[in-house]
This record gives sequence, C-alpha cells and structure tokens, in this order.
Amino acid sequence: MVPSEELTRLVMAAQPAPFWLDRPDAPAAREPLRGDAACDLAVIGGGFSGLWTALLAKEANPGRSVVLIEGNRIGWAASGRNGGFCEASLTHGAENGRERFPAEFGTLQRLGAENLDAIEAAIGKYGIDCDFERAGSITVATEDYQVGELREAAAADGSMFLDAEAVRAQVNSPTYLAGLWDKEGSAGVQPARLAWGLADACERIGVRIAERTPATGLASDEDGVTVRTRGGVLRARRVALGTNAFPPLDYRLTSDNRILWGGYDAIYHFGGDVRRAYDQRPATFAKLAGHFFSTFPQLEGIGFSHRWGGAIDTCSRFCAFFGTAHRGRVAYALGYTGLGVAATRFGARVMLDLLSGQPTELTQLEMVRSKPVPFPPEPLAYLGVQATRWSLAQADRRSGRRNLWLRALDTAGMGYDS
Ligand SMILES: Cc1cc2nc3c(=O)[nH]c(=O)nc-3n(C[C@H](O)[C@H](O)[C@H](O)COP(=O)(O)OP(=O)(O)OC[C@H]3O[C@@H](n4cnc5c(N)ncnc54)[C@H](O)[C@@H]3O)c2cc1C
Repeated sequence: MVPSEELTRLVMAAQPAPFWLDRPDAPAAREPLRGDAACDLAVIGGGFSGLWTALLAKEANPGRSVVLIEGNRIGWAASGRNGGFCEASLTHGAENGRERFPAEFGTLQRLGAENLDAIEAAIGKYGIDCDFERAGSITVATEDYQVGELREAAAADGSMFLDAEAVRAQVNSPTYLAGLWDKEGSAGVQPARLAWGLADACERIGVRIAERTPATGLASDEDGVTVRTRGGVLRARRVALGTNAFPPLDYRLTSDNRILWGGYDAIYHFGGDVRRAYDQRPATFAKLAGHFFSTFPQLEGIGFSHRWGGAIDTCSRFCAFFGTAHRGRVAYALGYTGLGVAATRFGARVMLDLLSGQPTELTQLEMVRSKPVPFPPEPLAYLGVQATRWSLAQADRRSGRRNLWLRALDTAGMGYDS
C-alpha cells in the first residue's frame, strides 16, 4: 500500500487545472457584449446546454437571430472538466430511469440513443475534432455482491456480462471481479474540444457569441425579455438558460493513453455554495490516488499530471428537470447530476420545444412535465447529505446492505445508489 504522505505528494505535484482545458490550442476569448443588443433568442451560458440550444435553434430556423452570452469562457465549467463519458442515458443510468419513469422508460431509452447518434452526426457534419469514439463503457464489480447485480443488469439490458478473466483482459486490475460492457450506449470525448467546436459551429451558422458577459438580471414585459449584463442590455423575444449549478468521475483512457481517474468523493457545501476554490481539494485527490493504486498496484511509482474538480448540479431524482418562467418566455433545463455531456443536447431540444409553446413529443413526456421533490432547506439539506454519504460508505463496507436512512430515502423516491 502506498503511504498517505506519498499519495499527497504525488497528487499535489500535478497541475491544478482540468486536463482537457490545459491546452496550447485553446481558443482566444471572444469579445464581451457591450452596449445594447436585440435578438429573437438569447441563450445564457456557454456550456453544452447553451451551445446545443443555440446550434439547434439556428439550424431549425436560420432566419432567427440568436445571441449566446457566457459569463466566463466557453466550456470552462462542468462541460470542460467532466469525465468525457458521453452516454445515451437521459436518466442518469437505466436503473434510475426504469424506477422513476417506468411507463415511458422505453421511449426515454430510444430518445437517448437517437440523441447520442445525433451528437455523433453533428460532430461529423461540422468537422469537430474532439476524439469522439464510440468505444462503449464497462461498469465493474469490485465487491462479490456486485457480481450478481451486474449479471442481472446484463440480462435486463442486453449488455455483455464479463467474468473476472474477461474484464481483466480489458482492464487489468486485480480488484475487478466482473464487468458489464455497454458497447452501444456510450462514447468517449475530449469535452473541452467538443465545447470549443460547438461554439465554432454556432458562429459558422450565424450565432453571435459573447464571452466574459455575465447576465446579472432578467425582467419580462409583453414584448419579451430584458437580460441585463455588466456592460449593457440584451433584449430578446425568448430566453433559454443553460447556466447549470456551479461534481463523480470514473475511469477512462484519453486519446494520448493517459488514465483519467476520478469519482466517488462528492462533497456538498452548506447552502449549495459554489466557489472556484472548492475545485481543488487535496484530501479528495489523495483518496482518489489511494483508490488508483489499489486498483492498479502494478502502476505504483508513477505520478499524476493534472488534478481538478468541479460543481455538479443535481436534484432529488438525479436526472434533468425542465420548465419555463416569465409566462413561457424563459426556459430552463437543470439537474443533470453526473451525466449531462450528452443529455444536455436533449435538454436543449426540450427548452426550444417549451419556448415554441407548441406541444411536442418531448413536452408531453412525464419526465418533462413532472418536477423532482425539492431538497429541504438548510440545515436539513446539509445534515441529510452528510447522513447519506456516511450511509453509502457503510453500505460499501456491508456488501451493499442499505441502512434505515437509505431505505427511507428509497421509499421517498430520493434514493441514490452510487
Ligand atoms: C467533475 C465532473 C465530472 C463529470 N463527469 C461527467 C461525465 O463523465 N459524463 C457526463 O455525462 N457528465 C459528467 N458531468 C456532468 C456534465 O459535465 C454536466 O452535466 C454538463 O456539462 C452540464 O452542462 P451545462 O452547459 O448545463 O453546464 P456548464 O458546463 O456548467 O455551463 C454553464 C455555463 O453557464 C455559465 N453561466 C452561469 N451563470 C451565468 C450567467 N449569469 N451569465 C452568463 N453565463 C452564466 C457558466 O459560466 C458556465 O460556462 C461531470 C461534471 C463534473 C463537474
């Protein structure tokens, strides 16, 4: 076992920056919005939500003027610092989806598969160089009780079950006891380059993008919506919010064959507080480094090149929810939890359909019409998250057996299993 001081030394020697964003070919900043401007559709936020919304809106209606404003830089937030797992699931995994939306689970799976195909098609159409690869993903069992769970999931989903020998032939770790290989529903992507490429594509078809332009307020009247920014005012007939929340990772190889390693340690700060400083947490990095060397003992002695974290927006159903405000003139899609790289494109379509005011297949979905149970106010939320983290760690040590607290959450429809 690698001593904890050595783990800390190794991770703290890494660059405190997201690997994906730390590139010499990162694009230069676009000009902020100064003075007053007007458009048909204003999109706030330059992550995947906002970028897909702007692109799809302009593609569907080239005559519509679309302006996207980003408070910082395109893709700097969750969209440029995630694990790069681009998954078909719209519901944060099949289990969560089947449980929460049993009647339309099949439809959601179809829409999710179509969404992933459409992402691949857009990347091809606009020539976005982002290492998009439909390699699939493997969920691994590291505890005996998880082997049976994976076997059952394979039978339910038609994914491929891998026994210990088969999973280790793919990823050589003595801790891996079995695997579930989903070959169709997942791709790997360099997410920062996808965001940058989407921004380019938006501009090529006529979307105006302003960076370093935070929206500071919204007001609506009969003619539309006024978006106040630091340097002026943007008038819009409709507004789509892709502002997220202001984060767990798993493991994958990057295109230059580094191992991207993360996940597990999701930290909640009182009041849902979000700060840049929270992206760097030495205790979490050391814990992950410990997991890394237990998983790959043959790699002891190597170092780490980058360390980072990021804010993840969530909700009590752990997958996105949608809605409108300002009498249907402003739409939002939030709560993707750890699986929004692909699902944000679906959320973008939902926002545009909601803003159209017309019923569509998407606006009729139970997933779109229903809202998650709100989290309780502080200090209950903080106490609840701490109790849940402790209980999940206990369950990991007790062959997955869930204590009274986790079972109560399951009964209330707020259960989490990760
Ligand atoms: C560490 C981490 C790992 C993850 N791993 C995965 C993964 O492997 N697979 C997966 O599917 N998902 C993953 N996720 C989740 C996924 O990255 C997000 O769900 C997705 O990127 C959300 O996109 P977004 O556009 O909604 O939000 P963001 O990318 O956060 O973009 C929101 C943007 O809005 C801007 N903004 C906010 N307020 C304003 C304002 N007032 N004015 C102007 N601009 C504003 C912000 O500056 C930001 O750029 C991960 C997330 C994190 C943090």
